[in-house]
Amino acid sequence: MKRVVVIGAGYAGLAAADALRAGGAEVTVLEARDRVGGRVWSVPFGDRGAIVERGAEFILPGYEVMEGMAERFGIPLVLKGTPYGRRIPIGEEAVAPEELQRAFELINGEVPGDPGSVAEAIDALELGPELSAVIRTRVQISTGHPAEDLELQVLERGASAFGDFDNYTLEGGNMRLADALAADLGGALHLSSPVRAVRWSDDAVTVVTDAGEVEAETAVIAAPASVLGEIDFEPALSGPTAEALAAVRYGHNAKLFVEMLAPAPPSAILSVAGHFWSYTQLGADGEPSPFAVGYAGTLPVIESLTGGGGHERWVEALVELRSDLELDPDPAHALLSTWHDDPWVRGAYSAGSLSEPLREDEMERPIGPLFFAGEHTAREWHGLMEGALRSGQRAAAQVLEAG
Ligand SMILES: Cc1cc2nc3c(=O)[nH]c(=O)nc-3n(C[C@H](O)[C@H](O)[C@H](O)COP(=O)(O)OP(=O)(O)OC[C@H]3O[C@@H](n4cnc5c(N)ncnc54)[C@H](O)[C@@H]3O)c2cc1C
Repeated sequence: MKRVVVIGAGYAGLAAADALRAGGAEVTVLEARDRVGGRVWSVPFGDRGAIVERGAEFILPGYEVMEGMAERFGIPLVLKGTPYGRRIPIGEEAVAPEELQRAFELINGEVPGDPGSVAEAIDALELGPELSAVIRTRVQISTGHPAEDLELQVLERGASAFGDFDNYTLEGGNMRLADALAADLGGALHLSSPVRAVRWSDDAVTVVTDAGEVEAETAVIAAPASVLGEIDFEPALSGPTAEALAAVRYGHNAKLFVEMLAPAPPSAILSVAGHFWSYTQLGADGEPSPFAVGYAGTLPVIESLTGGGGHERWVEALVELRSDLELDPDPAHALLSTWHDDPWVRGAYSAGSLSEPLREDEMERPIGPLFFAGEHTAREWHGLMEGALRSGQRAAAQVLEAG
């Protein structure tokens, strides 16, 4: 029986372990945190039974693997009702609905500008200053990366994100899927076990944690590319795969959860000046959830909204933006979720960088017995839960095929 060690118990590592075990391998999973799920992290919020997603939230169209796994474990999907693809600016920033629709149609059509940046492409659409700012802000918030360094494909790939489509979360939180996959692993999963070093040769791997060493024939490395530099590889990783992993750029995003004192239907409002969007949604009972969310992108914006480590400024800006909602203005009751300062990722998700494009062909190529998984390797699904799951299954298939 092939012995495989999986590093990281986010969706990618868990999906890899699941597929490896199904393929007959003996698997050990090592996870740095004291929980599974990685950037999927569902937590209770407020005193009305709400669950919020500190990380990944929206199940978008085409999530076949995630929906299939949810079905396998009997976890229902909850329709959020949030108009995710139609975030509207309001007040002084409002644009006519038909203008917004015109912009969506232009973006969903043939976008000029190749091989330029998203910023250049938006300029080339000649939408006018207000509408250009809306689209630019929308893209920068979602990717967490400046439009000048986003490749055009971001706009094309994200085309489905402009317009109208249903979106979902898992009932009880997206982390339920990670917990279900972890439950199947039993004693093969080791939490609070950061991998410090990986010693490898052509046909053997020794993985070193604070608690000891794990011997295997193969490893699937499903930790974010942004923190691989903190693992001491002996010999050091080199060649095209290592270079491609080191070149991955990460966007930065943060979320703010504020309690809502009176129910309000699903909504999606964009603050162009504030560089964040705010949404409300339905809960598992089909009734409005008792909280509103703020979602900001790019590091300078996060720093300006959460300057000094507090989130008072952002709560204030959110309450001002959403004067249509009855929000609890007390920052002590709000919850801020940031990822740039999380030691096990140091970012939100991989960016479609123009200066450092994602080199998936290289990242999929193993280095000796080391195979790589994670959303950053997932081609058009990068940056998403679906991509993480697919990447784990892909890496597992490679390991099993390698015999
Ligand atoms: C704010 C935010 C919002 C998002 N919104 C959405 C969304 O709406 N929809 C969507 O589809 N996706 C969304 N995503 C993206 C989604 O969360 C990720 O694409 C996906 O969860 C990544 O999974 P992964 O397994 O590749 O990485 P991770 O979830 O990061 O898992 C990697 C694991 O490796 C562990 N690790 C790191 N270093 C070590 C080490 N040395 N030793 C052992 N373990 C280690 C980490 O602790 C982590 O558990 C969002 C992400 C963020 C941050």
